[in-house]
Amino acid sequence: AVRMEGVDKWFGDFQALKGIDLEVANGERIVVCGPSGSGKSTLIRCLNRLEAIQQGRIFVDGIELTAGAQNVEVIRREVGMVFQQFNLFPHMTVLENCTLAPMRVRGMSRAQAEQTARGYLERVRIPEQADKYPAQLSGGEQQRVAIARALCMSPKLMLFDEPTSALDPEMVKEVLDTMLDLANEGMTMLCVTHEMGFARRVADRIIFMDRGEIVEVAPPADFFERPESERTRAFLGQIS
Ligand code: ATP
Ligand code: MG
Repeated sequence: AVRMEGVDKWFGDFQALKGIDLEVANGERIVVCGPSGSGKSTLIRCLNRLEAIQQGRIFVDGIELTAGAQNVEVIRREVGMVFQQFNLFPHMTVLENCTLAPMRVRGMSRAQAEQTARGYLERVRIPEQADKYPAQLSGGEQQRVAIARALCMSPKLMLFDEPTSALDPEMVKEVLDTMLDLANEGMTMLCVTHEMGFARRVADRIIFMDRGEIVEVAPPADFFERPESERTRAFLGQIS
């Protein structure tokens, strides 16, 4: 579903991504971890073309991202993204948040979009919140709205950038459970997260980044029990 070849990303004279090669198969669940500033968000944002790259190639679902604005629009339609800050539209109800893009971008009728949205709100276990405004919800509920909103576009790929980092501890589990459901349904996912319990249970492969590079890629068992790189060992030593 995703292929990155030799991707370099610069911010001015600072190189944030260095020769990133990565392939993600359909249905695969990838967890991305690494120290602050290692390039995790930049990697995710490049996949959605929130950031342009200077070198290399990115393919999402066979479409090359680097070739023109039209492709970017096509890919944005197919890729859902969930951020640390929920980025809901504050002046719209939950239901309106969820139906806007399907109506505007997919051309769904309101009735159809609302039916779809209610279905996903049910799946993220907050069907009763449809008519509230984001400010009336808990952080965990807002994040589940953000996930439902992304799912309403029927994305082929879901990107998560520390979706639980802004949440109070007691709300983390409900969001991770939602992500777990999604993983079990076969969604292709790339998740930046520090939740190593989640990584262990859900990830097919864990990517460890440091200083703009992918240092190690391994299934959870190998990653946690037999990390190959000294840098991975140092990182795991710090977080556990
Ligand atoms: P964190 O765990 O703190 O979220 P991260 O791994 O997500 O870190 P990135 O946000 O990808 O790190 O940033 C990687 C590097 O690129 C950092 O050194 C950061 O300062 C730099 N960077 C990111 N965005 C920009 C920008 N818009 N302009 C300049 N430098 C940037
Ligand atoms: Mg980040």
